[in-house]
Amino acid sequence: MNVLSVTSEVYPLIKTGGLADVAGALPLALEGLGVKTRTLLPGYPVVMSKLKGATQPILHFEDLLGETATLLAATHDGLDLLILDAPSLYDRPGGPYLDTTGMDYADNWKRFAALSLAGAQIAQGALPDWQPELVHVHDWQAALVPVFMRYGEKVEIPSLLTIHNIAFQGQFPANIMPMLRLPDHDMWEALEYHGTVSYLKGAMVTAHAISTVSPSYAEEILDSAFGMGLEGVAASRAAHLHGIVNGIDTDVWNPAHDGLLAAPYSVTSLKKRSINRDALVEHFGLDKDDSPIFCVISRLTWQKGMDVLAEIAGDLVAAGGKLVVLGSGEARLEWALKSAASRHPGRISVQLGYNEPLSHLMQAGADAIIIPSRFEPCGLTQLYGLRYGCVPVVSRTGGLNDTIIDANPAALAAKAATGIQFAAVTADGLRQAVRRTIRLFNDTKTWNQIQKQGMKADVSWQTSAQAYVHLYHRLLGKG
Ligand code: ADP
Repeated sequence: MNVLSVTSEVYPLIKTGGLADVAGALPLALEGLGVKTRTLLPGYPVVMSKLKGATQPILHFEDLLGETATLLAATHDGLDLLILDAPSLYDRPGGPYLDTTGMDYADNWKRFAALSLAGAQIAQGALPDWQPELVHVHDWQAALVPVFMRYGEKVEIPSLLTIHNIAFQGQFPANIMPMLRLPDHDMWEALEYHGTVSYLKGAMVTAHAISTVSPSYAEEILDSAFGMGLEGVAASRAAHLHGIVNGIDTDVWNPAHDGLLAAPYSVTSLKKRSINRDALVEHFGLDKDDSPIFCVISRLTWQKGMDVLAEIAGDLVAAGGKLVVLGSGEARLEWALKSAASRHPGRISVQLGYNEPLSHLMQAGADAIIIPSRFEPCGLTQLYGLRYGCVPVVSRTGGLNDTIIDANPAALAAKAATGIQFAAVTADGLRQAVRRTIRLFNDTKTWNQIQKQGMKADVSWQTSAQAYVHLYHRLLGKG
């Protein structure tokens, strides 16, 4: 089966969040199941420089919404890539969505409509020697693919939209509509959202099926508390809505062969974690003692519950814990966490910024990872935590709910527990979860059991890739 995947991020070429991890790992997992994926993504400068000299032009777009572009074929780390090289859209300093001052690019509507239009044309036969049977689009940046297919002149192929986070919708003023060059009729109905244009809504209406990245989140987005205004649209497509939990790349995230650690270890040599713990203590300038180290690796945002974390950081210390934070995000939250660190030297340490190697060491050296998200479509850091014996302390929502088994008495008795869950993302809820975690940590035998059970959990792509194949087959009328 040939599948075209369209995405704005692919690990290891360009990543701002979990979308990149999924778009990078899923094709590799699908390959063993008979699915060949080609992934279309924008030719951002960082992508072009990583692929330098190893691309081949295969198609020219004379007029992609007024811009010229070249489609380049490349392979990288086992991925079969199609790069949309359009310098007028993508060759600029800054990130994939924000300029160097942190503002959205004013032409984001065009940058990602062009990506989608290229995707739709490829899906509909633009390449002489390659025809996908199905197109899999990710998030709002690729969401116009099924819209362009629906309202184009060529035959539409089945499409699957995966929503990684319904909070990001690609919403633009109505005056961009004529510039999308779609026929007027039904299309306004698909894209219109309270007088604006919503790319994600367009795909939710036109894609043949929708998936989200966990079963719990697929249910949650039907509810106004999580649907971010699109709950009605989600409900109207409920029969075509699926939840498939993400896996992780178990080669990149393997504590037994992780070159970024001070000492590799496995479930049978857990004691070696202490070498990583020492390195972590050293790096963050923590006090050298045996009290539990909590870590956080996250965007510092309201969604991630980082305001609540900042609020209880002092209580965590008072309860006997230490805290290390790696992340960046909202200025007020960066400031709140930094000031908690300055009030508790040796107990709390915060490093602002993005640091992939350090994130590995943190999972290997910390005792627990706190993920107090208000909503979490899937979440990846709890899966890394499981694999590294860094016990996840998570709010009971979305993928966190689906992947962590709470250490309640029954689960502990059955030796099934893999972490700590708490409900209500409030200061009180998190404070109690931290205290419960510290109590469990102090019971070394139980704690080791939780760690080991987590390390044995299947967090690979195997099961989830099979679920995607099953869905692809259904969409092709073969399942
Ligand atoms: P989201 O995509 O909503 O940000 P996920 O948990 O799905 O959250 O994915 C976040 C990914 O980004 C994980 O791979 C995590 O390890 C990584 N990450 C987040 N912040 C940082 C950081 N400051 N440094 C390194 N990696 C980070």
